[in-house]
Amino acid sequence: MSNPFSNMLELVSSTAKTLKIDDEVVNILSQPERSVEVQVPFMLDNGQQAIATGYRVQYSSARGPYKGGLRYHPQVDLDEVKALAGWMSWKCAVVDIPYGGGKGGIEIDPKKLSELELESLSRSFARQLVPFIGPHNDIPAPDVNTNAQTMAWIMDEYSRATGQHNPGVITGKPIQLGGSLGRDTATAQGGIFVLSRYLAKQKKDLKGLTIAIQGFGNAGMNAAQILSNLGAKIIAVSDSRGGIVDRNGLNIGHVIKTKNKTGSVQEPKAEKITSEELLELEVDILIPAALENQITADNAKNIKAPIILELANGPTDPAADKILESNNQIVIPDILANAGGVTVSYFEWTQNITGFYWTLQEVQTKLKLKMEQAFDDVAGAAKIHNSSLRQGAYIIGLSRVIEAMKLRGNY
Ligand code: NAD
Repeated sequence: MSNPFSNMLELVSSTAKTLKIDDEVVNILSQPERSVEVQVPFMLDNGQQAIATGYRVQYSSARGPYKGGLRYHPQVDLDEVKALAGWMSWKCAVVDIPYGGGKGGIEIDPKKLSELELESLSRSFARQLVPFIGPHNDIPAPDVNTNAQTMAWIMDEYSRATGQHNPGVITGKPIQLGGSLGRDTATAQGGIFVLSRYLAKQKKDLKGLTIAIQGFGNAGMNAAQILSNLGAKIIAVSDSRGGIVDRNGLNIGHVIKTKNKTGSVQEPKAEKITSEELLELEVDILIPAALENQITADNAKNIKAPIILELANGPTDPAADKILESNNQIVIPDILANAGGVTVSYFEWTQNITGFYWTLQEVQTKLKLKMEQAFDDVAGAAKIHNSSLRQGAYIIGLSRVIEAMKLRGNY
C-alpha cells in the first residue's frame, strides 16, 4: 500500500510546479509544524492497565488554529496522521474557513474495547493532549471510529483540566453539550451539495442515477440516506465486513436499521460482494467513504463509474488518479468533497464562542453557500490551468495558505 504522506507530498509538489512556488515555501509546506506522539495508558475491564500510542499532528497554522479529527484504528501511524493533517490544511483553505490543519489518532482496534474501556482510553488521550489543544489553538473533531460521545469525554476532560467550561475545544459534540444541528450529516450533505452543483453544470439530474458507496459510517451511511431521499438509486454499499448489491436499488432505510442492530450491512434480496468488488461495479457514481488507498494502479482501470465523489480522505492514490484522468473519469476530490464536515465544525465552534445557537435551516443554508462557492473556485482554477478538479483544489488550497504565510511574514 502506498504511503499516504508521500501521496500528499506528490500533489503538493506538482501543484508547486504549476504555480511556480519557491522551493523555500514548498519545504515549509512539506512537513508539519509540530508532531506529538503520546503514550495513552487506560484501564481494561479486568482491572489491568493497557497502553496505546496516540498522535496529534499540527500541520499548518498560517490561516488559523489547527483543526482536524481524531481517528481510532489499528492502521493509524505517524505518516497517516501527517497526511490527514496536511489534507485538513488545504481543505480548510478550499472552503475558506479561518483554520489551519491538524489531525490525530490512536493506533488501536476500538471494536475490541468495551464502552468503559473506550471512555478510559479517550479521557487518557485528552489528558495527554491538554497542553497542545484549545479553542484558539487546536480543535479536534470526530473521524473514523470516533463519534459525538468520544468528543463529549474529551471536552469534559479538557474542561476539568483548565477549570473552565470549554465547549469550543472540540467539535462534533452531542447537541446537548454545544454540538451543532446538522454536524452529524454535514460531511455527506456537503459532498452532495458539491455533487449537485457539478451535475447541474453538466445539465444532469441526480434522480435515477445509480450509486455505489464503500464505507457505511458517518460519511457513507448519511450519504446513502440523503441521496436516496433525493431520488438516486443506491445499488451497493459496504463496510469493513463486506458489502451487498441489488441492481434494483437497496432499501436504504432498512439497510441502516439492520446495520445499527447487527453491526453489518445486510438485505435479504441483495447479493453479497466484497468491498473491493463494489468499487468496480457499473454505476453512475462511485462514493469511496471508508479509508485511504482504495483505488490504486492495481484496480483503477477496472473502475467503471464516470464520476467518483471522494467522501473518504485519500481514497485514490496518485497513480490511480492518472489512470482515471486518462479515461475521462471525473474525480471530485476529498479536500473539496468531504469539506462539509469541517465547515459545520466551524459553525459549531462559532456558536460555542458566541453562545448563540442556530437552527438547522441556518446551518444548511450556510453550508450550501460555502460548498457551492468552493466548487466554483476549484472548477474555475481547474479550467484556467486545464487540469483535474483535484489539481484545481490543490491550487486553491495551497495558494490561500501561501498568501496567509506571506502576509504574516513567517517564511
Ligand atoms: P466511521 O468510523 O463513521 O465509518 C467508517 C466506515 O468505513 C465504517 O462503516 C467501516 O466499517 C467502513 N470501513 C472500514 N474499512 C473498510 C473497508 N476496507 N471497506 C469498506 N468499508 C470499510 O468514519 P467516517 O467518519 O464515516 O469516516 C469515513 C471517511 O470519511 C474517512 O476517510 C474520514 O477521514 C472521512 N471524513 C470523515 C468526516 C467526518 O465528519 N466524520 C469528515 C471528512 C472526512
